[in-house]
Amino acid sequence: MVRPRKDRIVAYKPEVSYFKPRGIPMVELEEVKLTVDEREAIRLADLLGLSHEEAGREMGVSRATFGRIIQRARRILADALINGKAINVGGGNYRLVHQERKFQCYHCDHSWKVPSGICRPKSCPKCGSNSLYRLAGGQ
Ligand SMILES: [Zn+2]
Repeated sequence: MVRPRKDRIVAYKPEVSYFKPRGIPMVELEEVKLTVDEREAIRLADLLGLSHEEAGREMGVSRATFGRIIQRARRILADALINGKAINVGGGNYRLVHQERKFQCYHCDHSWKVPSGICRPKSCPKCGSNSLYRLAGGQ
């Protein structure tokens, strides 16, 4: 019996979903497929630097499962980079969760929202102070 795969939680989905090497005609171009959850794994582990444990928690999977996702994702990207293939991002078992984090400045009380895909802000966009805190309930 095949166990149904649980949806993986994806918090950030970039607009761009196709990457093509320059100078290779379409007819000669080979393509690799990267699923949306595999790209999310790359974002969490390689861009944000989370451990497999933390990243697995973000995606709602175990550390071991996350390890398998990231390993496959890196192999696909390596194949594209080394062998000059296009990358087509799409599909996979995932559920998109829109998350926003809200920050407030200690110095001037300015508060603003940051999408979950990018790193924690380093300073207040209004006064430049780096005394910030995260407000609860950013989901
Ligand atoms: Zn401020």
